[in-house]
Amino acid sequence: MQRLVQSFKPDSIGSKDLGLRLSELDSEISKKDLDKIVPLLNYSDLTIKDLDLLSSKMDSDSLINHSLLIKGNQKMGDKVLLYNLPGKLTCTPTKWCLEGRSGKPACYALRNNFRLLSAKKGAIIRYAVSKRNDFADIILPKLLRKKQLYFRWHASGDFYSEEYIKKVKNIAEECGNILFRTTTHRRDFTKEMQELNSLDNFVVRESLERSRPLPEMGLPFVGLESLEITKQGLSDGSVHMCPEFCDACGYQCWHGDKSTAVQEL
Ligand code: SF4
Repeated sequence: MQRLVQSFKPDSIGSKDLGLRLSELDSEISKKDLDKIVPLLNYSDLTIKDLDLLSSKMDSDSLINHSLLIKGNQKMGDKVLLYNLPGKLTCTPTKWCLEGRSGKPACYALRNNFRLLSAKKGAIIRYAVSKRNDFADIILPKLLRKKQLYFRWHASGDFYSEEYIKKVKNIAEECGNILFRTTTHRRDFTKEMQELNSLDNFVVRESLERSRPLPEMGLPFVGLESLEITKQGLSDGSVHMCPEFCDACGYQCWHGDKSTAVQEL
């Protein structure tokens, strides 16, 4: 592990280097090792294949004791639990997501607290755990022990495979008392997303932004306030404006499948 860390300057392990360095490892990567590796990763260059490679080298048994389920932030409130994955690597980001209108990412999962090393490390660990065949068996007891009523999949990240969607569906089917919701930017799993959305306790919304201004998935949507379809929905009442504080709002995103309008960052 020392060799992996020593010869790199901060933020310098890109896709090619990572593969080479990981192939030199003779032991599994622990949670502690991740503290050294994560600050060195060059996220602009990494792909989901690199994430898979990293996950395959991680001591996944030691990682399941990490706090996998996160309590809601100030905006969502502590009645909400979240499961976040690495942004960008698990999504299908557009130019707008990565560069916005001013060259800075418009996607909030690539800004602010999501840039903290602890958030990046947690998301990588959750990705590695989500790849396990016993993912549902790991999450269910943790989830049922908590008393939260609302669960948000992926404040950062997205569904990255059919297999992972099935695991999430199994979890929701076992937790009839909990309401789940997610927003997806991926259109390559439309059928699977529709099946997930058909559960009584699950709402999936399609994410609309400037480069994808119209819904295509047959799902409710979350759209920028400035989009024509969102403006139209706000005026005819079919779209709800997000007031930013879920408790005050009554957790409408979980209790119904209305489309939602959000402000552009
Ligand atoms: S619409 Fe309401 S429930 Fe949904 S994210 Fe906004 S504040 Fe939270």
